[in-house]
Amino acid sequence: MLGLYQTVSVDIDQIHELTSIVREARQQIFADDVVTLPSRVEKDLKLKSKPLSQCKKCQEWGHHDSKNCDKFKEKEKQRLALKLQSLLHS
Ligand SMILES: [Zn+2]
Repeated sequence: MLGLYQTVSVDIDQIHELTSIVREARQQIFADDVVTLPSRVEKDLKLKSKPLSQCKKCQEWGHHDSKNCDKFKEKEKQRLALKLQSLLHS
């Protein structure tokens, strides 16, 4: 009778330990969600709510302007590469 009680109590302790581990894991997952999810969603919402503006460099409607235009940067890079090539070959 006592032996049976001991086995049961050990099992309950193990169950308690497991549930506390699961609870901690859940809390950690939840804590991560709180940190990462809203900021990502917020960024998405901000991008969607932001009005489109036309870039003066590539004439494209989007969320960038002439100062951070990727297409312009690419063109500029190509131009510099060509200039460098001509300098090297002359
Ligand atoms: Zn642009």
